Amino acid sequence: MGIFDEMAKGGHEQVMFLREPATGLKAVVAFHNTILGPGLGGTRMYPYAREEEALEDVLRLSKGMTYKAAAVDLDFGGAKCVIWGDPQKDKTPEMMRALGRFVEGLKGRFYTGTDVGTTPEDFAVAARESQYIVGLPKAYGGGGDSSVPTALGVFYGIQAVAQALWRTPDLKGRRVAIQGVGKVGAKLARHLHEAGAELLLSDVNEARAQKLAQELGAQYVSPDEILYQPCDILSPCALGGILHEESIPRLQCQAVAGSANNQLKEAEDGRRLQRRGILYAPDYIINAGGLIQVADELDPRGFHEERVLAKTKAIKESLLQIFALSKEKGISTAEAADRLVEEKLATIFALRKVQPF
Ligand code: NAD
Repeated sequence: MGIFDEMAKGGHEQVMFLREPATGLKAVVAFHNTILGPGLGGTRMYPYAREEEALEDVLRLSKGMTYKAAAVDLDFGGAKCVIWGDPQKDKTPEMMRALGRFVEGLKGRFYTGTDVGTTPEDFAVAARESQYIVGLPKAYGGGGDSSVPTALGVFYGIQAVAQALWRTPDLKGRRVAIQGVGKVGAKLARHLHEAGAELLLSDVNEARAQKLAQELGAQYVSPDEILYQPCDILSPCALGGILHEESIPRLQCQAVAGSANNQLKEAEDGRRLQRRGILYAPDYIINAGGLIQVADELDPRGFHEERVLAKTKAIKESLLQIFALSKEKGISTAEAADRLVEEKLATIFALRKVQPF
C-alpha cells in the first residue's frame, strides 16, 4: 500500500521526510490532525529494520497524540517525529541540531521534545537551533522531569477507579500491583504508599524493585508473575501490549490503571476487559500528566506549576466521565474515551467556521 493510502486510512494530514547527510539524520515527521492547534509530540529514535516500519510507527504515534491532547483539553494537535537510527550508536549532538533546524523551519507548526531513545539533554542541543522545542530540563527554562506529573496523574486516575468501583477515592488497604518501578512506577509507588495502599512491586531490574519494596514495606513479585497477582488494581508502568487474548483471562484484578503507553494489544482487548468486569483506565488519559506539563511550557502567560497540577488533577474527572459513558452506552472504556475525543474534535472544527474578524 502507498503512503497516501496509509495516510487516508489513519486520517493523517501531512508526512514529511527529513534527510541531512552530514550528520546522518534520517527522520519522518507526521501530522495527524491540527484542528485543535499546532502539532505537539515527542521525537522517538529507534533502529527500525525497514523504512516502512518507521513510517508505520510515526503514523500510529501521531494519531495517538491527537487523542491524548484532546482528551485532556489541550489546544494542540497530534504530531510526532521518528529518527531512523540506533540511539546508542548513531545519535550525535550535531544530528540533534540538524533536527532542530528542520523543526525551526516549520515555524511553530510542530513542537517536539523527548520520547523513547532521546533525552531532555538531546533537546537542549536541538534548542540551540529552534525555539519550538519542549520538555527541556529546568536549567534550560523547561518544566523538568515529566515523570513527576505523569505519576501524579496516574495516582489521581487510580483514585477515580476507586471512586467508580467502591464509591470512595480512599486507597487505604487496597492492594495495588505495579509492573515496572522506573521513573513513573517508583514515584507512583510512593504516592500509593502515602495513601495507605498495600503494594506489590516488580521490575526486570530486580535490585531496583527489591530496594523500593524494602523501603516501602511492600512485597516483591517476579516479572513473570506480577500481572496475575490477586489484587484490587493492576498498574502497568513498564511496557505496552501487555493486555491481550492470553493475558486478560488470567488477570486477577478488579481494575487496570497504569502509565504504560498502548497497553491494549488490539481494540478487542478493551471489550475483553469489559466482558470480564475489569475496569480499564484508558492509558492515553491516565498517563497525560507529562504532556500537560510540556504543553504548559508553551502557554503565552508562561509556565506555571500550579496550573500543571490543577490540569493533572482533572484527569480524575475525565476518567469518571468516561467510566459513566461506558456504563451508559454499554461500550468499553477505551471506546468511550475515543468517542468523547471524536465528538470534541467535530465540535471545535465546526465552531472554527466562525471567523474572528
Ligand atoms: P522507565 O524506563 O524509567 O521505567 C520502566 C521500568 O520498567 C524500568 O525500570 C524497567 O526495568 C521496567 N520493566 C521493563 N520491562 C519490564 C517487565 N517485563 N516487567 C517488569 N518491569 C519491567 O520508563 P518510565 O518513564 O517510568 O515510563 C514507564 C511507562 O510509562 C512507559 O510505557 C512509558 O512510555 C509510559 N509513559 C511515561 C511517561 C513519562 O513522563 N515518563 C509519560 C507517559 C507515558
